[in-house]
Amino acid sequence: MCPPCDACAGPEPIAGLDADACLTLMATIVQEKARLDAALIRTQARFVELRSAAGPDPVVSEFAASEIAIELDLSCGAAAAQLKLAHTVTCRLPATLAALAAGAIDLGRARAVADATDSLSQVHAAAVEEKVLARGGRASHTLFRQALRRAVLAVDPDGAQRRHEKQRRERQVRIGPLDDGMAELWAFLPAADAQAAYQHIDALARCAGAPDDPRSMDERRADVLTDLLLGRHHDYEPVHIEIGVIVPADTLLGLTDAPGELAGHGPIPAGLARDLACAANATWRRILTDPVDGSLLDVSRRRFPSAALARHVQTRDRTCRFPSCRKPAAACDLDHVQPHADGGTTDPANLLTLCRRHHRMKHKGNWLVDLAGSRGSVTWTSPEKRVHHTGPEPYIDCIPNPEPELDPPPF
Ligand SMILES: [Zn+2]
Repeated sequence: MCPPCDACAGPEPIAGLDADACLTLMATIVQEKARLDAALIRTQARFVELRSAAGPDPVVSEFAASEIAIELDLSCGAAAAQLKLAHTVTCRLPATLAALAAGAIDLGRARAVADATDSLSQVHAAAVEEKVLARGGRASHTLFRQALRRAVLAVDPDGAQRRHEKQRRERQVRIGPLDDGMAELWAFLPAADAQAAYQHIDALARCAGAPDDPRSMDERRADVLTDLLLGRHHDYEPVHIEIGVIVPADTLLGLTDAPGELAGHGPIPAGLARDLACAANATWRRILTDPVDGSLLDVSRRRFPSAALARHVQTRDRTCRFPSCRKPAAACDLDHVQPHADGGTTDPANLLTLCRRHHRMKHKGNWLVDLAGSRGSVTWTSPEKRVHHTGPEPYIDCIPNPEPELDPPPF
């Protein structure tokens, strides 16, 4: 029986819990839910097997989903999707099923593995599973999906380049009606173009408003986009944008096809990373990483040391460093872990990106923060004395090697 079963007895047991017990119970329930999801998947896979036509190349009955749909109050489409997932995970992704049954990942992450490996061979799918699951469930679904994309690029670089070229030919713009006199305009674009376009719109919107402009940033960006597309006259100041292209040193030299990354987007195929890193275009800032352990080696320098240091820490951290927070580092504060007034140094070994909310939370003093060296490994201790270790996601998918500590670049 599951440990938290007294929670099901009614509101009284839960009403008596303290904060620490609430956290423990929530974690236990989530693990139990994952275990039950794994059991459901196994049962559905067995049902698929029973409804498959016998023979060397069995065909799943087209009516199996209807039986499940009625029993579980699902649409036929949703039931068919569940059966497909169950069949895929059980037959192709045994490590994923085991991780789900053990509560190491949840159903959403199991579905993400199935989606990401759908077009891969069985051998490549197993390699992706092994790479991604070795580092656990990650702090968020976004990080987990990014790790999957990185692993797919690493195990099948040729296929990745081909898939990118194929998808690139599918680029398009669509419009769809919405309620209340609104509509959505949607574009499917290569990631580099989409990032550059968004950063340009964002930079113009930040410069466009007067100090008393009542519009939110969302409204300003929407107005800039409309003005640009419709050719409306507007006194926009020219803006310069820079987007980081992270590329392992040996990929840049063409020695390997390890994937690169586009800041704000995530993993991209090696060929695209090389093209952007070498582009004679001021938009792209090349960021070199260590091909062995994926840590940051160098960011092409700026003229002012303080800006170079900020860029180094933002590039290393990528996001707010509170576990599970996805606020981009560029929109975060640079926090001195040991306050400057208390002798804290201004270098990568004492600087951390924190969003405003988590910056305030840290300074309230309920959470303790320990930054171990310049590579960005952080230990958070909660008010309930729960300890959470986080490291910045490496720029290539590998087991991080904590030794030796690199000297930080001179700023
Ligand atoms: Zn945050």
